[in-house]
Amino acid sequence: MNKITNHMPTAELQALDAAHHMHPFTANAELAKKGARVITRASGVTLTDSEGEEILDAMAGLWCVNIGYGRDELAEAAARQMRELPYYNTFFMSTHVPAIALADKLAELAPGDLNHVFFASGGSEANDTNIRLVRRYWELMGQPEKTVIISRKNAYHGTTMGGASLGGMQGMHAQGGMPIPDIVHINQPHWYLEGGDMDPEEFGLARARELEQKIDELGEGRVAAFIAEPIQGAGGVIVPPDSYWPEITRICAERDILLIVDEVITGFGRTGKWFGTQTYDLKPDIMTVAKGLSSGYAPIGGSIVSDKVAEVIGREEFAHGYTYSGHPVAAAVALENLRILEEEKIVDHVRDVAAPYLAEKWHQLADHPFVGETKIVGMMASLALTADKSVRKPFEAPAGTVGYMVRERCFANNLIMRHVGDRMVVSPPLVMTKADIDVLYERAVKSLDEGYARVK
Ligand code: PLP
Repeated sequence: MNKITNHMPTAELQALDAAHHMHPFTANAELAKKGARVITRASGVTLTDSEGEEILDAMAGLWCVNIGYGRDELAEAAARQMRELPYYNTFFMSTHVPAIALADKLAELAPGDLNHVFFASGGSEANDTNIRLVRRYWELMGQPEKTVIISRKNAYHGTTMGGASLGGMQGMHAQGGMPIPDIVHINQPHWYLEGGDMDPEEFGLARARELEQKIDELGEGRVAAFIAEPIQGAGGVIVPPDSYWPEITRICAERDILLIVDEVITGFGRTGKWFGTQTYDLKPDIMTVAKGLSSGYAPIGGSIVSDKVAEVIGREEFAHGYTYSGHPVAAAVALENLRILEEEKIVDHVRDVAAPYLAEKWHQLADHPFVGETKIVGMMASLALTADKSVRKPFEAPAGTVGYMVRERCFANNLIMRHVGDRMVVSPPLVMTKADIDVLYERAVKSLDEGYARVK
């Protein structure tokens, strides 16, 4: 086999890639024709590709590189830990210092009585753990018939059978017999697309009350939990109307069900507080974390569990765990990432500098004739592309066609911005400066102008 390096011509790398590498969420036939963009290096908020192009990463990888790229401290932490103890498991009454220290730190950072951590390698695995946790909880509480988990359409909770079933992505459910039994979905609080003539707050209340209706329909004695992202990320950065979360919180308080808040994207500073749970004043029984936990430098996630649930689960052996639960190298990297987030006051930077400035620029995009609405909380933002902004009119082309085209314009202009249908989304590294945000804005305007010229 040839030695494959960064120095090979791009076309050769692309051909090898398409021949042997099956990519997530990609049609390999298209990949073989077009070739993937080969990223070779990254520093701060900038990626470099195999052609030497410098690209502003307004998605922080996959919503995860919160502290930005190229932090040597994390490489050092990984190397140190790999030399000292590269692997040991946490099964069968064993433990090690990185897992102890990370669980301790997360218990300190997480709000309320979320004091116990079950580790996984990412968000999907952690959500699979959550399915097991909530069903086991009710079994131990003497109510084994409480097995149903209520989620929402267009939610994203990962790609394992459990995670994808919790998620509400029709395209995923259509491939492989999902959802698995006892997972049901209510409608999402997506006013722009589904609000019709209702005003947003009225709509938010109506959508929240679907939870209550679903509990009544199923019977409270059947419902184990409700799961939701504070802001739907992969669904298109859907910021719920202000009325939504208080009503959900009321329903959860009145009904005997658990609340799982999936903070895989919203955790670790993204919303301008440590967790989206704090931004929306939620009271979860379990919180899912991943991504920003290590800023993507190592694969790690987990379920942060309340005292109430952990006490019950801990009464007997919980027959669940992953080889890499609490992996020492990933845990050491995550700890170093949390140290940087804390010591460099990156969450304060989001709240006081980056998010207000990004919001100012992002909302200026609402004046563009191509843009129907702009939404932003902290460092996650979206805008709706529209054929007629006065009436929230969709395009005649199949949903997503125009969004894809605009994403390609962004790519050509060295800006990574993603599309979800005809909605454009960003979730940049939290360390962006005002100058970085200016570049983001200029490239976004240029890409929108070019896209608009093509559909006009
Ligand atoms: N939950 C949410 C809210 C996510 O956004 C994601 C990934 O994007 C996941 C879960 C799945 O995490 P992972 O890809 O680490 O399995």
